[in-house]
Amino acid sequence: MWDCVNMSAIASRPDGAPSVGATILIVEDEPAIATAIAQRLTAEGWRTEVARDGLSGVEAASRLRPSAVVLDVMLPGIDGLEVCRRIQAERPVPILMLTARDDETDMLIGLGVGADDYMTKPFSMRELVARLKALLRRVDRAAQASAAPSNEAEPPMTIGDVVIDQAQRRVHRAGKEIHLTPTEFELLVMLASSPKTVQTRERLLAEVWDWADASGTRTVDSHIKALRRKLGADLIRTVHGVGYAFEPPVAP
Ligand code: CA
Repeated sequence: MWDCVNMSAIASRPDGAPSVGATILIVEDEPAIATAIAQRLTAEGWRTEVARDGLSGVEAASRLRPSAVVLDVMLPGIDGLEVCRRIQAERPVPILMLTARDDETDMLIGLGVGADDYMTKPFSMRELVARLKALLRRVDRAAQASAAPSNEAEPPMTIGDVVIDQAQRRVHRAGKEIHLTPTEFELLVMLASSPKTVQTRERLLAEVWDWADASGTRTVDSHIKALRRKLGADLIRTVHGVGYAFEPPVAP
């Protein structure tokens, strides 16, 4: 009687089983990798579909409306960058991008591609699953926050000219709205909640990504770059070798 199970109720459960029955689109041209990912994600209880080139990936994202996309950067036809842009332009969806090198991840962040997480090949399937679960949990939290009645919501945080509205999941700086991905938003809230306090990369990784393995700290650095690019470089200070601190903006 699986058909009778209310998957949306399960998907929004706040405990450790995010988005059972979620659909994950895999855009990857290497058959062995695509098949291995699909098998592993199916074993997790997710539905999967594989697209083998960029245009098929864009088409499948539009048709399937997946919960998340695993997207290889190097694809025949249009590449992963362009696929990411086209998918996000049609409907925001969390994207985990697979890159060939760490510096490629930095380059993608610099271009403002808008993926939520990055993994460099080769990666372990266990880590891929953990990252996807964390990604889906963040999306669930964002959905719950926007569905909460506004009278229960926390008032917006105002720090100088920065206004962070957690109920609406919106950020403004100097009156201008700044569009952040769910991951960028959670990272900003985490930093801004304790101004001038140094947060280690490991702590940020554990709190924001639900992922405690320090090997993923590069992901934190990449998302800090994205926040600086969008919000201004003055808000987040690097504490070399340790982590990052939110610096309240100085009044003009
Ligand atoms: Ca490829």
